[in-house]
Amino acid sequence: MRETTRIVRAMLTEAIPGDPIHGGPVFAAPFHVPGDPEDVPYSYGRSHNPTWTALERALGMMESGKGFEARALVFGSGMAAVTAIFGAVLRPGDVVMLPANAYFTARVLVQEYFAKMGVEVRFAPAGGGAQSHPLDGVRLLWIETPSNPGMEVVNIRVMCERAHAVGALVACDNTTATPLGQKVLELGADYSVVSDTKSMTGHSDVMLGHVAVKDDTLWAGLERWRTLTGSIPGPMEAWLAGRSLATLPLRLERSCANAMKIAEFLSGRADVLRVMYPGLKTHPEHGTAARQMRMFGPVLSFVLASRGAAERFLKAAELVTDATSFGGVTTTAERRARWKHDAIEEGFIRLSAGCEEIEDLLADMGRALDAAHRSTL
Ligand SMILES: *Cc1c(COP(=O)(O)O)cnc(C)c1O
Repeated sequence: MRETTRIVRAMLTEAIPGDPIHGGPVFAAPFHVPGDPEDVPYSYGRSHNPTWTALERALGMMESGKGFEARALVFGSGMAAVTAIFGAVLRPGDVVMLPANAYFTARVLVQEYFAKMGVEVRFAPAGGGAQSHPLDGVRLLWIETPSNPGMEVVNIRVMCERAHAVGALVACDNTTATPLGQKVLELGADYSVVSDTKSMTGHSDVMLGHVAVKDDTLWAGLERWRTLTGSIPGPMEAWLAGRSLATLPLRLERSCANAMKIAEFLSGRADVLRVMYPGLKTHPEHGTAARQMRMFGPVLSFVLASRGAAERFLKAAELVTDATSFGGVTTTAERRARWKHDAIEEGFIRLSAGCEEIEDLLADMGRALDAAHRSTL
């Protein structure tokens, strides 16, 4: 059976006559537990929940690859999932290496907390530059590809082989591509970490994250962290995520096709200084992206001449909602430098392609670019 078919049917319940074909969210703090809690699958809602279990089975299936079955754990947000890996792995004296352009909040977390608790934090150059950077002494190598918001790509297989040769574990933030678009565990990563707030849930209304692993010991470390810290999702969020999963292949296929056409359209405009999308042949790591990604993702970035031009474009575009985050069914974009997180141009825009008709999006963006350009003349 093809993966898409399995995902569409992943949340169906067992065919027991008279039962609903989909399970609802199970809202419970304590469960009935007479006697030994080891005798029951569920005892208390901070440790486990049947709605999580159903979602984790589906996510584990999506993260699996040739020769292994992945196991997933859901968390209250992408950052809760990221924190679980740092917390489960890093001890004083350990070295963690992150890309210089890693997701901003992850960088702040390791610097403000883990560094102060005696973990050595090192930064590797962004994108392809990371591939020859020395890894000696590293306990945990963090990679993020394509990176947010620069759309830089690293070769996952090469990075994992190099890290494993020095005994390091590898975590790959797979948020922009999703496990449908890129199988990072199959490419060698020990941890796949995803903010399910983005494309995985896809409707811009849920905060959620997950980590998937191949190894039972790594799984147990993460589960222990989640139970002790209580970084859990609510049953309603987990249920909404399961409901969204069935449409992920359809949503992502359309968003990625739209992103490709928007990237091509922007590349042909004289008023756009630069377009960054792994699907474009002009992307410096396009070859690597084409080998390791099944879809190039819904996110692209481009640069206009100035802050003013970017602001005018976003104001003039009716079908490009000015908002942060990405991966929703509606097209959104923002002038990224307003957050002051990354070393990027004032006119840098990150855009997340939604599922609208591409003709409408291109016509609207063309009009908005003309308007943004006209008022500078
Ligand atoms: C959004 C995001 C996160 C954090 O996820 P939250 O759900 O917002 O906590 C981590 N990594 C990347 C690449 C992201 O885009």
